[in-house]
Amino acid sequence: MKPFAYRRVEDVHAAVRAAGRGPTVRFLAGGTNLIDLMKQGVEEPEQLVDVNRLPLAEIAEAPAGDVTMGALARNSDVAAHPLIRGRYPALAEALLSGASPQLRNMATVGGNLLQRTRCPYFTDPAFAECNKRRPGSGCAARHGYTRMHAILGASDACIATHPSDMAVALAALDAVVEVTGPDGDRSIAIGDFHRLPGDTPHVETELRAGELIVAVRLPASPFARRSHYLKVRDRAAYAFALVSVAAALGLDGSGTIRAARLVLGGVAHKPWRVPAAEQVLIGRRADPVAYAEAADILLEGAEPLRDNAFKVELARRSVVRALTVTAARG
Ligand SMILES: Cc1cc2nc3c(=O)[nH]c(=O)nc-3n(C[C@H](O)[C@H](O)[C@H](O)COP(=O)(O)OP(=O)(O)OC[C@H]3O[C@@H](n4cnc5c(N)ncnc54)[C@H](O)[C@@H]3O)c2cc1C
Ligand code: SF4
Repeated sequence: MKPFAYRRVEDVHAAVRAAGRGPTVRFLAGGTNLIDLMKQGVEEPEQLVDVNRLPLAEIAEAPAGDVTMGALARNSDVAAHPLIRGRYPALAEALLSGASPQLRNMATVGGNLLQRTRCPYFTDPAFAECNKRRPGSGCAARHGYTRMHAILGASDACIATHPSDMAVALAALDAVVEVTGPDGDRSIAIGDFHRLPGDTPHVETELRAGELIVAVRLPASPFARRSHYLKVRDRAAYAFALVSVAAALGLDGSGTIRAARLVLGGVAHKPWRVPAAEQVLIGRRADPVAYAEAADILLEGAEPLRDNAFKVELARRSVVRALTVTAARG
C-alpha cells in the first residue's frame, strides 16, 4: 500500500473543505471496498478524509412522506428499519442479498453506491490493460473470461457491470441522491447517477471532484410496498448477482396494472431501466404474458459476449418470476 495522509473530520463542511477538488482524495466510510482496493494497489489516494463521525446515519420520514437515509447509515440498519421494510421491501431484500452480515454492518449507503466494479481484470493490477484503472490502456476482459460481464450498454472501451444490489432497488424506487460539495448542494436522480462506460469508463458517476453524498431520498410512493428484489447468483449467499431484478407494481382492485417499475442488475455498467418496458405493462392484467413482453423490451439490443449468452434467457425468466412474486404481494 502506498503511503497516504489521513484526516478525520467532525462535520460536513469540514469534510468538503478537507477534500477540496483534489482527484487523489477519497472519503473513507465503511472502508470495505476502498481499503481492499488500496491494499491491492488499484486505488492510490494521497489523502483519506474519514467521514465516520459525521452525523449522517439517520433514517427518517420527512414531512411530505419521503424517507431519507443518511449516507452513513449502515446497510444492515437500513435493511432492518421498519420504514424501509414496510414501505420499500425491495430495498430491504436487495441489501440483505448482498455481501455478509459482517460486511453489511460496516458498509454504508454512500459507499455502496460508489463501490467499484468486480471485473477481475480491474481488481488485479497484474493485468496492464484496463481502461477503468488506467485510461487508454485497453480492456483485458475483451479477450478474457466474460461470464460476469455486461450484455447491455457496454462499449468497446469497457464491458464491466456495476455490482451494487442496493442501486438496482433504488432505481426501481425513483430514489434521489443528495450531495454537497465545493459548489454547494444538489440532487441527482438515481437513474442519472451512474454512467454507461462510453469512451470514459473511469468516469463512473455524475459526482464531481470533492462532492460528498449526504443522503439518499426515497419519494413517498403509493405502490412501492408491493415491490420485490430477486437476485440470481452462483451461491445462495455471499456472491454478486449474475442477474437481478427489482420490481414494483401498482395494481387496482381488479388486478389490472396501474403503475410499474422494472430494473435489471448484473447486466450493465449501471442499473438497467427502460421506461417502455414498464409502459407495456400499464392497463394489462398482471400475468406472465405481459411480464414476458416487458422482459423482451427490457432486453432489446442485448449483446452477449463469448461466455455470458446465458444471461439473456436468465434475465428474461427472472423478470417473469420477479413480477409474479411482486403481484402476489398484498
Ligand atoms: C467479499 C465482499 C462481498 C460483497 N458482496 C456484495 C454484494 O453481493 N452486493 C453488493 O451490493 N455489495 C457487495 N459488496 C460490496 C459492499 O457492499 C461494499 O464494499 C460496501 O457497500 C461499500 O461501502 P463502504 O461504506 O464500506 O464504502 P467505502 O469502502 O468506505 O467507500 C467506497 C467508495 O465510496 C466513496 N464514498 C464512501 N462514502 C462516500 C460519501 N458519503 N460520499 C462520497 N464518496 C463516498 C469512497 O471514497 C470510496 O471511493 C461486497 C463486498 C465484499 C468485500
Ligand atoms: S471490462 Fe472495464 S473494468 Fe474490466 S478490464 Fe475492461 S476496462 Fe477494465
